Amino acid sequence: MPTVLITGASRGLGREFARQFAAQNWRVIATCRNPAAADLEGEVHALDVTDDHCVRSLADTLVGEPIDLLLNNAGVYGPRDSDFGRIDYDAWDEVLRINAMAPIRVAEAFAGHVLRSELKQMVFISSVMGSIAQTSVGNGFIYRSSKACLNMAVNILANQLRPNGATCVLFHPGWVRTDMGGPSAAIDPTVSVGGMMNVIKRLKPEDSGRFINYDGFDFPW
Ligand code: NDP
Repeated sequence: MPTVLITGASRGLGREFARQFAAQNWRVIATCRNPAAADLEGEVHALDVTDDHCVRSLADTLVGEPIDLLLNNAGVYGPRDSDFGRIDYDAWDEVLRINAMAPIRVAEAFAGHVLRSELKQMVFISSVMGSIAQTSVGNGFIYRSSKACLNMAVNILANQLRPNGATCVLFHPGWVRTDMGGPSAAIDPTVSVGGMMNVIKRLKPEDSGRFINYDGFDFPW
């Protein structure tokens, strides 16, 4: 039975990933900031992805256990009115910590668990808003730059871990009806996660470094 560890599993896409992987008989290690408040079944651990001590201590708790798929999903949008001329630098700092630095922190802590597994996969939930090629508007300063930073970091990571047989990819999940995506978003979490799981099922080491839409098409950087 393969194992997946999911960050930000308390709601939205993370919770749907936990549900769908469990339904496909994976061992699901769900993590979130406040397990007591989350509507999650099975194996749940407290994990704030920005807290170095918390990340390392969970990696220690799970030492020796292979993790086939490390799913870096946790993320925030940040303040929606913080654009050029009125940038909230503290908020930018916090969003960079959560969206760009934390997924790499988690990857560093769990690389050993992933590399001892059979599948050796790391998936990072990015966004089309992190694509420089697709950005022709002057808003979303904080969120867009955080996801662009994540894209570059994962590109480097994919190159670094390729010789170890690891597959690291980024996804745009679509515009999804979650707390972040809002009620007018285009698709349900079931469709987004179902699409990404179809792609994940077919991932091969040569896919490492791809930036993929939830339906399997590649995104321009
Ligand atoms: P939600 O706002 O519904 O959920 C965000 C999740 O991230 C929550 O579980 C939240 O936990 C968790 N989280 C936030 N900060 C931390 C932290 N410091 N440590 C641990 N967990 C944290 O968003 P979505 O489900 O929509 O987003 C999931 C991912 O998909 C994000 O990376 C997002 O950027 C990306 N995405 C989403 C899109 C959409 O349309 N929905 C579009 C493109 C990308 P808590 O409950 O504790 O707050």
